Amino acid sequence: MPGFELWSDKERKEVNDVLETGILMRYGFDGPRKGIWKSKELEEAICKRFGCHYAQLTSSGTAALTTAMSALGIGYGDEVITPSFTFVASFEAILSVGAVPVLVDIDETLTLAPDAVRKAITPKTKAIMPVHMCGSMADMDALLDICKEHNLILLEDACQSIGGTYKGKSLGTIGDAGTFSFDFVKTMTCAEGGVVMMKNKELYEKCDGYTDHGHDHKGADRGADLHPFIGYNYRISELHSAVGLAQIQRVDEFLAIQKKNHGILKNLLAQVPGVSFRHVPDPAGDSCSFVSWFLPTKEATIAVVNEMKAQGILAGNFYWFDNNWHYIRKWDHLKKCYNIKFITSGVESKSDGAG
Ligand SMILES: *Cc1c(COP(=O)(O)O)cnc(C)c1O
Repeated sequence: MPGFELWSDKERKEVNDVLETGILMRYGFDGPRKGIWKSKELEEAICKRFGCHYAQLTSSGTAALTTAMSALGIGYGDEVITPSFTFVASFEAILSVGAVPVLVDIDETLTLAPDAVRKAITPKTKAIMPVHMCGSMADMDALLDICKEHNLILLEDACQSIGGTYKGKSLGTIGDAGTFSFDFVKTMTCAEGGVVMMKNKELYEKCDGYTDHGHDHKGADRGADLHPFIGYNYRISELHSAVGLAQIQRVDEFLAIQKKNHGILKNLLAQVPGVSFRHVPDPAGDSCSFVSWFLPTKEATIAVVNEMKAQGILAGNFYWFDNNWHYIRKWDHLKKCYNIKFITSGVESKSDGAG
């Protein structure tokens, strides 16, 4: 149940705190802001709720991925292995730091297939980026082993799995860094926003500077800050953080509704002959934001999807194989670029660069 559907007085109250002072920016203006620091408060709340040492808010989930990659030292020519079933933001972020997305197969978890990852490793591989799609998780133990063995960075795109866990740890806090998106349709929203979560202080300081033109944020006068490296403007605003601050206090309420509805739907579907479900490596950790299921054939799937649409049960195109935004088959805009490598079903292809 996405948080936007449960808009309440709590969100209005937090936003009003900011509107009262009129200080909409997260940095500086210490006097006039009268002690209102919504972004800082939200970062602290994220650390506490999801169990990470440091959190850096950003203007979007895509910006969070870009920030994490830059801070982790992923850059020009590095290969990042990521799944061919994700949202386009995952490869956009890889391209934004000059790295090469290497798109590989998924398995019945609907996330990275560890054996496909192994096959895609080259001397240029720098990182593995699993995407915890549709609320549930990748096989993290297998991926952690691969990273250890090959000395690779593990960056989790947990944008779609806020509140999910794997063996007791929040998704997004298990690898070297992880990200959430707080865009309008995610489990909790800021309207637009994202976060990088990490354990390492030095990495955090890089994220902190990178999202604000490289400011070191050491003094009270922004104009006198030093800039140890180049950054960009990926700042969140206080208005967005205010919405998020109300939502994070309610996120367990949202997750409980999701779990309940997921249970009802899954039990009903399980009674239908031929229906099977995705493999969830740690069933207790499913955030339950989606119910994902398989049918035995393509024909049956198309027929069922068409019937569900005709009956008004299904709004968008949730037949993922045929989806424009989430599956490689329809990413022609990407496939026309230079510098893309995709290895699906064991066959390596390279784009022709014609675009
Ligand atoms: C939503 C999403 C993002 C990007 O988030 P934005 O906040 O919309 O930029 C990245 N990856 C995945 C898997 C997503 O679902």
